[in-house]
Amino acid sequence: MIHAATNDFLVPSVIRLLHMVKRPVFSRRLSRREIFWRDGFRCQYCGKQVRELTLDHVQPRVKNGPHTWENVVTACEACNHRKAGRSPQEAGMRLLKEPAPPKPNPYYHLMHRQLPEEWSIYLPWMQPRRDAMALASA
Ligand SMILES: [Zn+2]
Repeated sequence: MIHAATNDFLVPSVIRLLHMVKRPVFSRRLSRREIFWRDGFRCQYCGKQVRELTLDHVQPRVKNGPHTWENVVTACEACNHRKAGRSPQEAGMRLLKEPAPPKPNPYYHLMHRQLPEEWSIYLPWMQPRRDAMALASA
């Protein structure tokens, strides 16, 4: 509902476009939060999901390791402390997976928000809910 000076107007929840509108897909800015999201809030050395997560530079900053998607991973405090200022090889540790920039996602700006249920038929990650609703009504 939009409230104007003399009237109120209902606003549709979804607007269907008749033509494709190409929007640029922006790459994500490297941040603490984005690294945790990419790594599933899981330490990339031991695989544990713990509350206190840290960022680890695979090639340490003291050895000129860059602050890039390819060199920063999520680590628990214990693994980060154990690895210290060494490379994984020097510390005898292995990464669960090779760090890389997240793939561009045109839906990214919607993914961490509470969305109206009626949008679910348009959003790929909400499809199981739609299938469950169809089963429930059958
Ligand atoms: Zn760990």
